[in-house]
Amino acid sequence: MDPNVAQIISDEERREAEKIILIASENYVSQAVIDAQSSVLANKYAEGYPSRRFYEGCEYVDEAESLAVKRSKELFQAEHSNVQPLSGTIANLTVYLAMLKPGDTILSMDLSHGGHLSHGSPASFTGKIFNAYHYGVSRETHLIDYEEVRTMARKVRPKMIVVGASSYSRTIDFERFREIADEVGALVMCDIAHIAGLVAAGVHPNPVPFADFVTSTTHKTLRGPRGAFIMCKREYASRIDSTVFPGLQGGPFMNIIAAKAVCFKEAKTEQFREYGKQIVKNSKALCEAMKERGYKIVTGSTDNHLFLVDLTDRGITGRDAARALDQAGITLNKNVIPFDTQSPYITSGIRIGTPIVTTRGMREREMERIAEWIDRVLLNIDDLLVRRQVAAEVKEFCAEYPIRPFVKDEG
Ligand SMILES: *Cc1c(COP(=O)(O)O)cnc(C)c1O
Repeated sequence: MDPNVAQIISDEERREAEKIILIASENYVSQAVIDAQSSVLANKYAEGYPSRRFYEGCEYVDEAESLAVKRSKELFQAEHSNVQPLSGTIANLTVYLAMLKPGDTILSMDLSHGGHLSHGSPASFTGKIFNAYHYGVSRETHLIDYEEVRTMARKVRPKMIVVGASSYSRTIDFERFREIADEVGALVMCDIAHIAGLVAAGVHPNPVPFADFVTSTTHKTLRGPRGAFIMCKREYASRIDSTVFPGLQGGPFMNIIAAKAVCFKEAKTEQFREYGKQIVKNSKALCEAMKERGYKIVTGSTDNHLFLVDLTDRGITGRDAARALDQAGITLNKNVIPFDTQSPYITSGIRIGTPIVTTRGMREREMERIAEWIDRVLLNIDDLLVRRQVAAEVKEFCAEYPIRPFVKDEG
């Protein structure tokens, strides 16, 4: 019926198949997740919660939502879970609006040091509604400076401390944040949007025991549909639920909720634990391979699915590097590095993540090849021929790796 959109979809499919995607926040989902997302469950209005709906005919979508809730609670050992949030940003806004009043103080990680817009950045409404202060990373080590967090918390007395990041390559000490929050009587919200899949796989500590609220997207390392969920202690359950609906959202996307149920089931398998382990192994391998080629890595290393390359000493901006690499078939994003002197549109760094290449079955050996290609393009940053050669090699290489993970039902 619509050749235009059909063409767009097949072009995108080809792009995803032929390029090496190193965008740390993206992933390729299973056919089971796609099937649930594109199902007739999308047709159903289901305002409210299972068995407490405002519309008739919710008997099947109720089952889907109950499954998603049960599975997410089991996966992360949470007391309560709300699977209706449409995006990570909305999930965070929900927690703030449930617990804070406009003008209240929050303390979160600086956007330019790895935090997220929705953590009270001036560019986001969260920064306009709330009085946000930001902690950063140490100038020397680029690691979160927990003592600075503590000093700031004592000074600004936040109502809530927001923990979590979009471009921080090291393990976050959630327990330490809890201790700091307890000293000043603050609530703790941990946003694990990026690392949820690693937490589920047991390769990053789980914040649930230490946090009042844990928010996450489902579409990053967790490898589910585009969406989010909120977990919290039982005492906050009804406040969170009523802030999601009717507070901020209308009808939930029941097709997406069913796909979240599938994703939580997949994430509980032994196969997914192996996947999580391999993401980190690949990230470390790619990071080492870049270091061997003389690249400077922010924090010097990685514990998770991503790392930042500081290109300052190469005389290349993040923007130019990312553009050249994309033309060479390697897609990633420019990224500010801590204490960057360039604007967020230019930047001095690139962010490299391994969730997709790991989904496609690539391992340490392949990371070595990817580093070689990246190096070749960056060493010849103005050479269009090199880009074209690398793109051809990448395309041939990618043909060997599937674009859909197949996760076996382990019962
Ligand atoms: C990606 C991300 C989000 C936002 O998710 P959206 O679904 O894009 O709104 C929130 N917090 C962090 C830390 C993220 O990395």
